[in-house]
Amino acid sequence: MVTAIHELSTRLADQISAGEVIERPASVVKELVENSIDAQSTKIDVVIEDTNHQVIKVIDNGTGIVPEQVELAFRRYATSKISQSEDLTRIHSLGFRGEALPSIASIAKVTMQTSDGIHPGVQLQVMGGQLGTKQPAASRRGTTVVVSDLFYNTPHRRRYLKSANTELAKITETINQLALGHPQIAISLRHNQKEVLQTAGRGNLQQVIGGIYNNQILKQLLAVDRSTDDFIVHGYIGKPELTRASRNYISLIINGRYVRNADLSKAVIAGYGSKLMVGRFPMVILELTIDPSRLDVNVQPTKQAVRLLDHQELGLFLTETISQRLQKQNLIPQALDNKVVRT
Ligand code: ADP
Ligand code: MG
Repeated sequence: MVTAIHELSTRLADQISAGEVIERPASVVKELVENSIDAQSTKIDVVIEDTNHQVIKVIDNGTGIVPEQVELAFRRYATSKISQSEDLTRIHSLGFRGEALPSIASIAKVTMQTSDGIHPGVQLQVMGGQLGTKQPAASRRGTTVVVSDLFYNTPHRRRYLKSANTELAKITETINQLALGHPQIAISLRHNQKEVLQTAGRGNLQQVIGGIYNNQILKQLLAVDRSTDDFIVHGYIGKPELTRASRNYISLIINGRYVRNADLSKAVIAGYGSKLMVGRFPMVILELTIDPSRLDVNVQPTKQAVRLLDHQELGLFLTETISQRLQKQNLIPQALDNKVVRT
């Protein structure tokens, strides 16, 4: 029997779209911390408590939201970050789609406390997309968002959650990526009262790397700094003997956004020429700055995939930068230098 076509309720539509942005607890953490970064915070604390239901808390000292706009932040496609289609060609913020808060609030219990430090602070609870009433709250500048009972009303999604340990590993990976892209922000992660990461927020990438991996690794990294008219790169590349079994240790951050891009990873590996053992991959952390109009971040809702207008040029720039840096270190014999490139 065929059922008549009918429009889905907003609530159901929201739950469906939420699936594109919020896959697991780590997606909640990513979206909340990105909002804190976009709000110019200098300090962001992430607290994970594994009680009966996991609680995720993100506390920032950013711009906050004025009381009369708090509800709007939870409305789909409501954003303060872009206003016209041309803005899509010059994205400077991590968010811009206005989807994260309404998505999270449609499939979890959310409490937001926020103040711009001028107006009185407010607190708002949203549960399953249902807005509560605003309550007065402390006026410390910044925003705290508490999310609990993720997927409480979408049991089919909750079934896909892995063990608390696996989810914590994903959260940690997410925080590490955000911290690497933002050494100027003091970012901390605590799990059940235990410190997992704490960065100093003094803009020192080396210090962030030391905190995430360990200080031993720092000794095996070479600093890289190079700029052309089109690209600026700053970061660290591992000496060829510092290898890993997976490509996951190649971290590329473009305009503050941690990106996954197979071609750029290949270009990085190519920079090592034949210096890497077969089946091994280098450890690389590079922050790239490029003209935002040459970068399309609006490819998928989580924005980890990007399209680059000059992606071949950027690849060559990376390969060249790395091979030159290794050559300088006398690690690549001159004779091999011209035939570099193994992809
Ligand atoms: P987006 O980040 O794409 O704009 P979100 O749904 O994540 O969409 O957030 C909606 C809006 O709420 C943001 O544009 C911003 O104005 C506001 N907001 C969210 N989180 C914060 C925060 N931590 N501090 C200040 N403003 C925030
Ligand atoms: Mg956002």
